[in-house]
Amino acid sequence: MKELWNLFRRFVPPYRKYLILNILFNILSALLTLFSFAVIVPILEILFKIKEANYHFMPLGSASLKEVAFNNFYYYTQECINLWGPIGTLAALAALLVFMTMLKTGTAYLSSYFIIPMRQGIVRDIRNYVYDKIVTLPIGFFTTERKGDVMARMTGDVAEIENSIMSTLDMIFKNPIMIIVCLSMMIFLSWQLTVFVLVLLPIAGSIMGRVGKRLKRKSLEGQNQWGVLMSNIEETLGGLRIIKAFNAENKVRDRFHRGNQLFYDISCSVARRQSLAHPMSEFLGTITIALVLVFGGSLIINGVSGMNAASFIYYMVIFYSVINPAKDLTKAMYSIQRGLASMERVDVILNAVNPIADPAEPRSPATFKGKVTYNDVTFGYDPEIPVVRNVNLTIEPGQTVALVGQSGSGKSTMADLLPRFYDVNQGSVSIDGIDVRDMKVHEVRSYMGNVNQEAILFNDTIFNNIAFGVKNATMEQVIEAAKIANAHDFIMATEDGYQTSIGDRGCRLSGGQRQRLSIARAILKNPPILILDEATSALDSESEKLVQEALERLMKNRTTLVIAHRLSTIRNASLICVMHEGEIVERGTHDELLALDGYYTRLVEMQSMK
Ligand code: ADP
Ligand code: MG
Repeated sequence: MKELWNLFRRFVPPYRKYLILNILFNILSALLTLFSFAVIVPILEILFKIKEANYHFMPLGSASLKEVAFNNFYYYTQECINLWGPIGTLAALAALLVFMTMLKTGTAYLSSYFIIPMRQGIVRDIRNYVYDKIVTLPIGFFTTERKGDVMARMTGDVAEIENSIMSTLDMIFKNPIMIIVCLSMMIFLSWQLTVFVLVLLPIAGSIMGRVGKRLKRKSLEGQNQWGVLMSNIEETLGGLRIIKAFNAENKVRDRFHRGNQLFYDISCSVARRQSLAHPMSEFLGTITIALVLVFGGSLIINGVSGMNAASFIYYMVIFYSVINPAKDLTKAMYSIQRGLASMERVDVILNAVNPIADPAEPRSPATFKGKVTYNDVTFGYDPEIPVVRNVNLTIEPGQTVALVGQSGSGKSTMADLLPRFYDVNQGSVSIDGIDVRDMKVHEVRSYMGNVNQEAILFNDTIFNNIAFGVKNATMEQVIEAAKIANAHDFIMATEDGYQTSIGDRGCRLSGGQRQRLSIARAILKNPPILILDEATSALDSESEKLVQEALERLMKNRTTLVIAHRLSTIRNASLICVMHEGEIVERGTHDELLALDGYYTRLVEMQSMK
């Protein structure tokens, strides 16, 4: 219950207005229920001809409120019988019943009407919060939490919250009101019987609760398994090419089927437990009613309570109106358990702490020059196992420094430390002498342009892909950037030119074309610092030439950190650093390094053999 309350406290406030309206109409509807059923009493009395006594009008205060109410109601009924005859009165009372019920159902509708914006709104808000969080979380988060799993949380779990908590929201506010109002009436009618009922109901409730206990844990298991399945699908879609090439369809199919079977087993167990709720509550409800019938009947027969047969029937009708909301409420508690399990999973994302945050007092360089310094930097994805060790490196404004070395030697990691995709464990990375951790994250990144091995493009037009990082870019600027990036000609050759849509991740373009678009994007952003991580290594030699030309134009007058697989492309760098197992083992110009006859020479030899 506490968790549910917390959930409301977090998400309901913007919808307070709707909630108040909802509660208002719920109270109205509960009261109208009471009074519409109250009409039954005189109807029954006329039918049974029980009342033949002569009623006189009682003014308020002449007796207890209960007596006055009953007496005057009978008095008016009696007057009507005298006026219209019994049949006429019956018809009039029936018409009153219909009219009151119309009001009751009308207000019930209005109460739902006002809760709906809140119900849908909360789900929309949760989805927005998760998305916003995903965008702000550092890249490192998504290597520990698998992408498919994040997607499962955002889709499956949010839908689960919608189905199980939000769909019962209506009930959560309506039923307690109904129960309280009806119970008050019941106490008013016969407190003895009501005390008896109040002892019975919690017993039945606690039996129901016991069954619900394990439901939440099982649900959690189920949603986790759903995350595994989503990751699996995501992986399959991404790797379809390899799966087919290695004839591994059966292998992945088996793996998926096994996971899916496990999900089936858990779902069955959850659903079975949940469907137990309905028969259980019906059975327990009937036992309760039977007991109340016997006890209440004995009260009347012994003349203990002031009730007669007709008001006892009215009592039972009201009691029935309590049983149903109470039953629904216990059922709702069952599905809420499932929803809370999902909320827990969504909260893993929402509550994830972002270690890469803006400092309290951000600094920024007075006049930007673009000098990049790695000062005794040590970093490891697992802090115990450093992959970059005690690295010192300075890149003067406008200078190009190249990092070379075997795969896995830590080059990309070095590049990721500069825009704060990760924070260093020891030492510091600074721009113009200011530690990047002392600057606003957005400011640090605004100085940088990235071109990576895999061009990352979006399913949008060519124009929008190039203009991605720049607000209000004009067509002229985009064309200018595309020309520098050697991309203009192939863009013009496409069907709709700059308005051509490039498909999911740019799948309608060749690797070289994609790369030139991402270079055009970097050119348009015009950053003073440039990070090129194996920008040409995925390309064939012909497109490499075009891309290399584009890159050289891009690098002009910028501080550049270039990581190159092919050494031919960095021959002209002002400084080449050779990395080996996380350390810079050699540094110098191409000729100086060759003269050393060390790691660099071996790298060059290996490449010229190819
Ligand atoms: P390079 O770019 O020189 O090929 P990387 O910087 O990508 O090398 O990788 C350096 C080391 O860090 C490798 O041993 C690699 O296994 C490890 N590594 C890279 N990325 C991650 C990551 N996201 N989580 C954990 N370890 C990683
Ligand atoms: Mg790399």
